[in-house]
Amino acid sequence: MTVDVDAIAANLAAVQRRIERAAERAGRDPSTVTLIGVSKTMPPERVRAAYDAGLRHFGENRVQEGEAKIDAVRLPDATWHLIGHLQTNKAKPAARCFQVIHSIDSERVADALSRVGQDVKVLLEVNYAGEESKFGVSPEDAPALAAHVRNLPHLRLVGLMTVAPFVEEAEQVRPVFRGMRELGERLRGDGEWHLSMGMTNDFEVAVEEGATFVRIGRAIFGERL
Ligand SMILES: *Cc1c(COP(=O)(O)O)cnc(C)c1O
Repeated sequence: MTVDVDAIAANLAAVQRRIERAAERAGRDPSTVTLIGVSKTMPPERVRAAYDAGLRHFGENRVQEGEAKIDAVRLPDATWHLIGHLQTNKAKPAARCFQVIHSIDSERVADALSRVGQDVKVLLEVNYAGEESKFGVSPEDAPALAAHVRNLPHLRLVGLMTVAPFVEEAEQVRPVFRGMRELGERLRGDGEWHLSMGMTNDFEVAVEEGATFVRIGRAIFGERL
């Protein structure tokens, strides 16, 4: 496997620059946006290349794949985010491997994660547009789920996550990101609070609308393997 380290470093710099510009357009401080490099399907060598180029946050969408990769690369000061659907039977390895879990979408999965007994930050995944094909709690049910999670030991609710509908023009999903921000304003408490939104196709619009975590795969690592 040949790994084009230089391409990853250049991609990363370009994405960071685009995030900065988008933040500035919206009058936001760019340092309030954290870039999560989504390394799903990518081998450990590419994760290492991105790390060497300065990336410190990584996202995986499957518990087992993430677990194996985290063990293989052993990055001392990286933060690992679980961004894909979590099944209750994977709660234990998920809580042990990932510091932030973006995909809480039911009381059942929140309860299972809490029972592991490991402190973990969590976000609620919101299916904002009500798409059949997507996981996530509806915006209407999000307040009750937030209240439930806040009552559980070991889980710290730190924000909301969404995967916007796939569209031709990123501009078309601006209302989704804006709606997420408004929902977040209603649900947030006093502490740390994030909006995890924006992917390769739409991250600039997401940053303009208030994203604090952007989850970017292809623009950094290239097309998935
Ligand atoms: C794959 C994935 C991403 C990254 O997608 P890209 O289009 O490669 O940037 C972000 N979020 C989630 C939940 C994903 O599954």
